[in-house]
Amino acid sequence: MSGWIGVDLDGTLAHYEGWNNGEIGEPLVPMLERVKEWLSNGMVVKIVTARVAPGPDPRGGRADIEAWCLKHIGRVLEVTCQKDFGMIELWDDRVIQVMPNIGEPLHDTGARDLANCRRERYQKDRKIRSLRGAIDKACSIIELGDQRLLAGDGPAGGLPPDLSLAEWKLMYTVLDKARKDSK
Ligand SMILES: [Mg+2]
Repeated sequence: MSGWIGVDLDGTLAHYEGWNNGEIGEPLVPMLERVKEWLSNGMVVKIVTARVAPGPDPRGGRADIEAWCLKHIGRVLEVTCQKDFGMIELWDDRVIQVMPNIGEPLHDTGARDLANCRRERYQKDRKIRSLRGAIDKACSIIELGDQRLLAGDGPAGGLPPDLSLAEWKLMYTVLDKARKDSK
């Protein structure tokens, strides 16, 4: 048989709850058994993962994936982040399959719900990261003893040097609320 089957790693072939310093999770047995079955039937299977996307090879990159394959599958599979015309299937926990030449999801409701949940979670995570960054910055200024922030006098005396106007406003709001809550 010509062509190859692409299998995603994180969340598809291996358990995944987050980057975890690049550690590759334990195999997911149904997918692992499926891959072994394909291989025993002479099919070509490749790992398709962003872990080998262009850029620095992180911990958990190509060498670790190959070692993981050897340990759990018994042989090293080719690892790629690219499709080509030989790819006949892609098994991936993030895929939303669309109907060919129609452009609508094959499993309409479930697929849409899943995609919406994923998008919301991504946006929430991004917001949390940006708030954390602003708060860390403001905390470091407070530690340096910027009494103007603690007194809540507003930016009348000029902005603290390390904060943008938007960050200052956010911090002012947070501190103002904290001060009121503590009264
Ligand atoms: Mg995945």
